[in-house]
Amino acid sequence: MNENQPKYQPDTEAIRIQTERTWQMEHSTPMFLTSSFCYDNVEEMRATFADETDFNIYSRFSNPNVDEFVQKVCALEQAEAGYATASGMSAIFASFMALMKAGDHLLSARAIFGSTHTVVTKFLPKWGISYDYFDVTRPETVEALIKPNTKMIFVETPTNPGLDVIDMQFLADIANKHNIILNVDNCFATPVLQKPILAGAHLVTHSATKWMDGQGRVLGGAVVGKKELIKEIYAFCRSTGPSMSPFNAWVLSKSLETLHVRMERHCANALALAKALEKNTQLNWVRYPFLESHPQYAIAIKQMTGGGGIVCFELKGGLEQGKRFLDALKMLTLTANLGDSRSIASHPASTTHAKLTEDERINVGITPGFIRISVGLENIKDILEDIEQALEASKA
Ligand SMILES: *Cc1c(COP(=O)(O)O)cnc(C)c1O
Repeated sequence: MNENQPKYQPDTEAIRIQTERTWQMEHSTPMFLTSSFCYDNVEEMRATFADETDFNIYSRFSNPNVDEFVQKVCALEQAEAGYATASGMSAIFASFMALMKAGDHLLSARAIFGSTHTVVTKFLPKWGISYDYFDVTRPETVEALIKPNTKMIFVETPTNPGLDVIDMQFLADIANKHNIILNVDNCFATPVLQKPILAGAHLVTHSATKWMDGQGRVLGGAVVGKKELIKEIYAFCRSTGPSMSPFNAWVLSKSLETLHVRMERHCANALALAKALEKNTQLNWVRYPFLESHPQYAIAIKQMTGGGGIVCFELKGGLEQGKRFLDALKMLTLTANLGDSRSIASHPASTTHAKLTEDERINVGITPGFIRISVGLENIKDILEDIEQALEASKA
């Protein structure tokens, strides 16, 4: 857990926040690969266990590398406090478990990350926490779904994989009116492109595995927000143990130093790709938050400073063309991750969502010809050329 007082602009903070130098006077933060920390005497140890000092105790609770990462995420999100976890899922899970109890109700967007959907529908009910889903494209239906026991509203914007966008300020107003926690998964936009807390969210969850790492190396997660909420989450995590490894924190903290410049390039490449693909006759449609044709374009430009690094489109030839398209790619990688320096293509209907029936897939916006591109940092000419040649080659 960490509280911070920003001194500089967020992009500078992401670079300059640093663990205090050791007597070695290193310029770059070293790795603190240690499970526990020492005390000079029993009184200091007692005081630390009694929360009377800021010293570390054990790396399940806190660690200098993890604290550095958390401080940076707090500075970027303009959050009061935060806690870092082993993965995005443990951050989301901890935010649910620490703040809801049996008898409570969660109101969640339907279009959420697959594992989050599993937690919401399979595990929360097992512990007596009920849920309802709302449709991100119909924000006017949200308020009517609130019950007296609704404790939290959970949403991703833009959504994965459909890239729908919902007005965070609108949701925050509803949440505040009913005294409910608004929890936003900000993985897709990153704090570079939108800051949900400034729009009124009380909590922000992250998978640091994606754009934050940006190079597909380590898993990580974070939850940041209101001090009193993070206090509960910290207490839950400290005892249940989903803490981030100091090694991963070291990697991720370094990654945050380049997040702003990377997101600029991801967004520029993605917008150029989306615009070029809009002219392609093989496609039914192209979806990108910063395309004027996006159904929630007005909200996207209001609350985001860039459209992000994901572009989606629908192939006219459906499932079969989807398979041929992936096989015809020469440079783009077929892999489950996203938010990498290397461009990635995925075809949910034949891979991640193949077990669903076609009707179930359509319900979450995954049509047979739906393709998701995580646009990397390569030269846009190469990205576009590979996608265009694969579209040509996959023609029926
Ligand atoms: C990947 C992802 C998660 C889960 O993060 P992990 O680090 O894989 O546990 C949660 N939300 C979104 C939107 C994601 O893309």
